[in-house]
Amino acid sequence: MSLYDKFGRQITDLRISITDRCNFRCVYCRSADPENYRDHSELLTWPELRRLARIFVGLGIRKVRITGGEPLVREGVEEFIAHLKMLGVADLSITTNGHLLAERCERLIAAGLKRINISLDSLDAAKFERITRTRSFGKVMEGIETVQRSQLAPAKVNAVLVRGINDDEIEAFAEFARERSVIMRFIEFMPLDADRHWSRDLMVPAAEVQQRIHARWPLEQIPHEKSETARKFRFVDGARGEIGLIAPVTQAFCGHCSRIRLTADGRMRTCLFSKEDHNLLELLRDSATDGQIEEWVKAIVMEKEEGHRINEPGFVPPSRTMVYIGG
Ligand code: SAM
Repeated sequence: MSLYDKFGRQITDLRISITDRCNFRCVYCRSADPENYRDHSELLTWPELRRLARIFVGLGIRKVRITGGEPLVREGVEEFIAHLKMLGVADLSITTNGHLLAERCERLIAAGLKRINISLDSLDAAKFERITRTRSFGKVMEGIETVQRSQLAPAKVNAVLVRGINDDEIEAFAEFARERSVIMRFIEFMPLDADRHWSRDLMVPAAEVQQRIHARWPLEQIPHEKSETARKFRFVDGARGEIGLIAPVTQAFCGHCSRIRLTADGRMRTCLFSKEDHNLLELLRDSATDGQIEEWVKAIVMEKEEGHRINEPGFVPPSRTMVYIGG
């Protein structure tokens, strides 16, 4: 079975947020003010997640990314990865802030993890700690080093650039890619922050990042799959490491989107910017059969939005922010 939307896009990728909790409080994502987490009883349990994963795989999902919140704060993630592997998910990845990575890396690999994205928004310890509102710089760097020594290498290291905060580090990040042989990816700041501070001026366009790195170390583009979010570049001088540019705001890639999302509280989302999400938890807990869930998922996917509307007048950001949607 396969999932298609009404624009003919085949949906093969699922991002599963396994928790709405996070041990970081990044300024471009969460608020300094306490937020209301869902009660544990309102979150998908592991048996529910395993059942849904089986149904989604049966519907043609081939790529699963586990995210959150911070996925490594929820006990049981390794067992869930092993389950996804057993279901035959070939492309199995996780997005993490890296705080708990050094100590968990081996177990994640043993469970079947194939790829990893680690968030790192500054190479300056003091600035990193201001952005994340933690004291975790050393632990995250240790996590990246552990990955680089493992079969998960090369790590994808993700930086969200915010004008006036870390855009002075573009070249330093590129140098980091060259020195550590990582894939350094720059993500445009999106209007998904809890404090609603996003403005176009705060977003650093991918074209600017490309120009600045290219001026210092010429880049050449590497072909990529249409459904991939990043445009990829290598260094012309043959240095190791790679650059990725993710430009959801200035160069939207919705036309080739193959993704859907499942939130920790069991809502299905067909776009990061969907105005509404769909309550799968209720259906699941209402004794729906696998067949009923499949039909429901197919109908929702069919109505997937053609694209986000960030650049259109009157754009309204979704009521739920990144930490609750799962990036
Ligand atoms: N806790 C994990 C982490 O830090 O990678 C996974 C969840 S986090 C919400 C996933 C990704 O979303 C991170 O790379 C984070 O930097 C990114 N993100 C959060 N808020 C964002 C925003 N407003 N615009 C762009 N990216 C954002």
